[in-house]
Amino acid sequence: MPREILVAEAAGFCFGVKKAIQKAESMDQAFIFGSLIHNPQEVERLSKMKKHIVHDLEEIDGNQVVITAHGLDIKKIEEMKSKNFDIIDTTCPLVTRIYKEGWKLESQGFQIVIIGDPNHVEVKGIASRMKNPIIVYEESDLIGLKPHAKIGVICQSTLLLEKFDKFVHILQGYCDQVVAINTICKPTKDRQTSAALLAQQVDLMIVIGGRNSSNTHKLAQTCQTYLPLKTFHVETASELQPQWFHNQKKVGITAGASTPDYLIQECIEKIQSFDLIVPAS
Ligand code: SF4
Repeated sequence: MPREILVAEAAGFCFGVKKAIQKAESMDQAFIFGSLIHNPQEVERLSKMKKHIVHDLEEIDGNQVVITAHGLDIKKIEEMKSKNFDIIDTTCPLVTRIYKEGWKLESQGFQIVIIGDPNHVEVKGIASRMKNPIIVYEESDLIGLKPHAKIGVICQSTLLLEKFDKFVHILQGYCDQVVAINTICKPTKDRQTSAALLAQQVDLMIVIGGRNSSNTHKLAQTCQTYLPLKTFHVETASELQPQWFHNQKKVGITAGASTPDYLIQECIEKIQSFDLIVPAS
């Protein structure tokens, strides 16, 4: 009997990334500031269509620049404006919502704490819009945190749900009043919950997505909770190994928010092709 391949209910491109890519595709030539998408294969496909990723304004030929779905440091945007760049802003509305939640908490006198990767463009963008934010990403970042009377917590849109709850609980030990707004976006929550659900129903999980994609890593971590030795993170179908699938009747597939559908499809076809291979004993 051929093995069953089940794809998580929510997997692959989210609407924010899809919209940003469609916008770039609609332009004859685009200079995109930072990574439009954390997926090397998709970045390569776009670069063949004259959609160039740049990390410095000097690299731009012309005066149009695209801001990616996860936003940008406000100081960089101000620099772009001062240099009269025509800014095409594809910041996802669910990232803009995080700025607004932060401002609301600040206006009520809360010290902002951002849970997220300090090196990620989205977290840099959020932090740059707050007055004096504290960024925490590892549990060790919480050790020795100065006590504050009022802490307002927001987080990176792609954070792990469990991490948010855990950190908020720890922060509650540091101050009298903690108001925590879970700003993990719905597409991320949906991908995490459906990956967790699927990982409990299958023998093996394949997580598809860029090694530089934070949300793909988090999906892999979620699946590893249920299938610690049988969760494999791959970028493309070429990395799939036939021996992983030997005697595995049910295979689950999930993919990060920046993984295009064609990479998921290629993986499904490759796994199906392994049914035809007689594994070495
Ligand atoms: S992961 Fe969430 S916040 Fe980020 S682009 Fe997609 S929908 Fe928007």
